[in-house]
Amino acid sequence: MKPQTTTVQFCEVSDPGPPKTDLGDVALRENDPVYRLHRGNSPLILSAPHTGWKVPEHMIDRDGSPLGAPAWWFDPKLPQHRHEVCDWGTAELVERINRLIPHISSISSNVSRLVVEKNRKWEYAITPESSEYGPKICIPGNHNISTKQLSERKAIYDAYTAAENDLISDIKHAHNGAANIALHSFAPEWHGHGRDYEIGITYFEDTTLSELIEHALIERMGRRAASQYPYNLKNGQFSDKIAAPSLSQKHDAPFVMIEIRNDLLQDLQRLEETAELLSDIIHNIQQNPEYEQCLSRNPASKSRETALSPAIPAYGVA
Ligand SMILES: [Zn+2]
Repeated sequence: MKPQTTTVQFCEVSDPGPPKTDLGDVALRENDPVYRLHRGNSPLILSAPHTGWKVPEHMIDRDGSPLGAPAWWFDPKLPQHRHEVCDWGTAELVERINRLIPHISSISSNVSRLVVEKNRKWEYAITPESSEYGPKICIPGNHNISTKQLSERKAIYDAYTAAENDLISDIKHAHNGAANIALHSFAPEWHGHGRDYEIGITYFEDTTLSELIEHALIERMGRRAASQYPYNLKNGQFSDKIAAPSLSQKHDAPFVMIEIRNDLLQDLQRLEETAELLSDIIHNIQQNPEYEQCLSRNPASKSRETALSPAIPAYGVA
């Protein structure tokens, strides 16, 4: 399939939002890094492809609208966080986990998912519209994309995915094993309905790693956590769109995604609590007798039933 270089005659967003918007340093300038990399000496890796909200400077309109979308969507200081732009709170979460358990490596993006979607295969990496909050909204800057601009976006995409691949490859080589834990956040509401669960774990295949993380989450959070939430990766509906499965197979590195409701990351206290919770869970997995089995795509143990809430109908990929 070819990249989504959709041509449309009319595409406009009317969403004035809060009266005051200060985008600060939203502009990504030439030679600015497109990702942040932290190297530790453990086989475990945190990946966070949706942490960024920056947009290349020349993709910001004269009226200050990044990609023709409302400027307030990109303001990190506003409490109304539009999930289309990025997984708000995850950049700060990765930073804090890096401080708590610095031996765990991490890679996180600086660039908005609206510029290019690093979580997906390149064929699906341009987002022409959003249906996150109800009827589909057209993203003006993601239509009628010039060849030059498409290659600029591809360069950002390639830089991130190559760095992630190299990180996993290096770790696999050094430790004879690696595991990739992706961190994401989701909005507290979906199409006007509140999302009851605070944390979800989702993955394409059952592995020892997925099993241990699920058990740890249920132990600590009870029914505030859910399996295959806020969308189900195991039923195959996203398998050909998301980039992770092929990377996981290439390096025999198990992959799990932890999704956090973003109100758990909004103020300093909850952010610290969530960072400590996840750091504890990762630390405990390293002490588990089955830890070595977490470092390849070993199937989960059949003898241990998971006790998490059942998966609910899938939502859009967060
Ligand atoms: Zn995400």
